[in-house]
This record gives sequence, C-alpha cells and structure tokens, in this order.
Amino acid sequence: MIIIMKLNAAETAVSQVEEKLKALGKECNISRGIQRTVIGAIGDETDIDVEALEAISDVDRVVRVMKPYKIVSREAHEQDTIVDVSGVPIGGNTIQIIAGPCSVETPEQMSSAAESVVAAGCRLMRGGAFKPRTSPYAFQGAGVDGLKMFREAAQPHSLPIVTELMDVRMLDTFLEHGVDLIQIGTRNMQNFDLLKAVGRTHTPVILKRGMSATISEWLMAAEYIAAGGNHNIIFCERGVRSFETAYRNMLDVTAIPVLKRETHLPVIVDPSHAGGKTWMVPALSRAAIAAGADGLLVEMHPRPEEAWCDADQALSPVQLNELMIELGGIAKVLGRSL
Ligand code: PEP
Ligand code: MN
Repeated sequence: MIIIMKLNAAETAVSQVEEKLKALGKECNISRGIQRTVIGAIGDETDIDVEALEAISDVDRVVRVMKPYKIVSREAHEQDTIVDVSGVPIGGNTIQIIAGPCSVETPEQMSSAAESVVAAGCRLMRGGAFKPRTSPYAFQGAGVDGLKMFREAAQPHSLPIVTELMDVRMLDTFLEHGVDLIQIGTRNMQNFDLLKAVGRTHTPVILKRGMSATISEWLMAAEYIAAGGNHNIIFCERGVRSFETAYRNMLDVTAIPVLKRETHLPVIVDPSHAGGKTWMVPALSRAAIAAGADGLLVEMHPRPEEAWCDADQALSPVQLNELMIELGGIAKVLGRSL
C-alpha cells in the first residue's frame, strides 16, 4: 500500500502514519522528496483501514497495490478454475448450458422439463422452488415440496440441480435435499450473512450480479463466500438496471471479458432475465458465448404460455434445441466444446 502525503506535510503526520502501520505489523519505506513524502507499507493490505489512514491530517491519498479480493482474483490464481458440480465441469474448455423452468410447478411439468433439458444436450437443470417476486401476491414458489419435485424429476437423468437460496434458514434443507448448485439471486448479492453461510459449505454456488452492483462490489461479494472456505463459485451476469425500458435489464456483455481478466473463476450469463422476452434470448446467448462466457443459465418451460412465472421469457423445448445447435457452432469457432 502506498500512502501519499500532502505537499509539505508535517513530520508529525508522517510519524503518525508510520506508527499506525507498525502497530499492524507493516514495515514502512519512507521516501522524502523535496516537497512530498511517500510511504510504502510492506505486507498484507487486507487488514489496513484505508479511511482511517486518509483521516490523518496531511495524508493526501492512499493507494492499494493488491486487489482487495484476495482469493477470487486472478492475481492469486493464474489458471482458470474449473468448478465441479456433481461431476459436471463448469469453466475450462467446455461450455455448459443450464436450462429449466423459472419455477418448479408440478411433478409433470418438472419431469417433462427434465426430458427436454437432456434431449437438448444440456447437463444441468435449473428451477426455482423459492421465488423472489416483486409482488407478495404473486406465486412464491412451491417451497420444500418444490425441492422434492425437482430432485425426483432430475434423478432418472442424473441431472445436477440448480436452485435459488433466499433465506439462510433454508440452507440445511437445501443440503439435505442434495441441491448440487446453490443460486444466490440478484437481490441477495450483498446479503452478507447468506454469503457467509454458503461459504461454510462445499456446495458450488452461482453468484448472480446485483442489479445495480459494480463489478468490484460483485467480486467482493464472491470474496465473502471464498473467505469462508468455499471456492466453488460461478459468477452469473444477468443484466443491470439502466435507463432503457425496451427490455427488462441491460445485459452487460462488457462485464464478461472484465471478469475473466479479474478472476480465475467461471463466468456464466443469464440471457432470460436480461432480455425478459423469449425472442431476445437467442441473440443475447450468442453474444454471451462469443464474448467468452463459460455457459448460460436459461429459462425453458415445456409449455411457456402456461408457465406460472416469467412465461414471456421462457424458451420452448424446440427453441432450446435450436439454440443449442447455434451455440455449438459458436463454440466450435472458439475451439471450445458444448
Ligand atoms: C432466477 O434466475 O430465477 C431469478 C430470479 O433471477 P435474478 O435473481 O437474476 O432476478
Ligand atoms: Mn425467472
């Protein structure tokens, strides 16, 4: 960390900074110019409070040298990490498409969806049993019964299941039901207690981007999970709030290369909650994979017009098949497999 003093800073202020850093066990390298003194603090930066240093009079500014996200940063781990989800790899050379309905509705709907997911060539299935709905009067999800329905539908196909955890009190139930991949939704990206709780498990986690979160806040949220010991984290870009009203959210395609540079962890994209309309999903999916995403989280319903939730953005089984064929072509050009 570098502490830059104001022009002609008082020697007492320089000593104050030095004492503060030494109390934290840091070695100081003081460089005195004609007008300005610069202090280099040597050692781990994570326990240094930048604001407390900047509050000292005559400190101009404090500059970090290391990334504040220690474990998830590429600085810490140069190679791409592959997250193993019950035997299915996410990250690396393979692109994984996670498909399934927005919400778990009935056993029939789930078994039909599972068949279509497998028939399209997807190796993981999604479905929400606990739904974060804008209106308290809208369908809130089938709850624990939904987890059971999901497990039963996925079992015959050995499909790992992906489902959203909203409440820390449901974590044990998720683990008892063998949820293979826990989804943290956009509204909970900074629910730090929830992040700490999933960080204490070994179950892989999809961390969706908060709808107004910066990439740096998102990386720090992932660091919460990693700091607890769970490094099985997958980032999911799902669109951010913007001024535009022609679609649900603005898919931040730029975030894909930025994240791939900043972190070694896999990055996937949810084109369904970005566009918010079925007809946009193929174009956004192609853009995501072409930009380097490691996979997609996409909504597909056996009969979209009858879906209990997000009916207007679900692909039909036929549309999912067509999308998989298109993405296979893009993957080939990129030298990746689907
Ligand atoms: C979902 O994937 O079911 C969902 C609710 O997404 P988000 O958290 O991105 O809105
Ligand atoms: Mn949905």
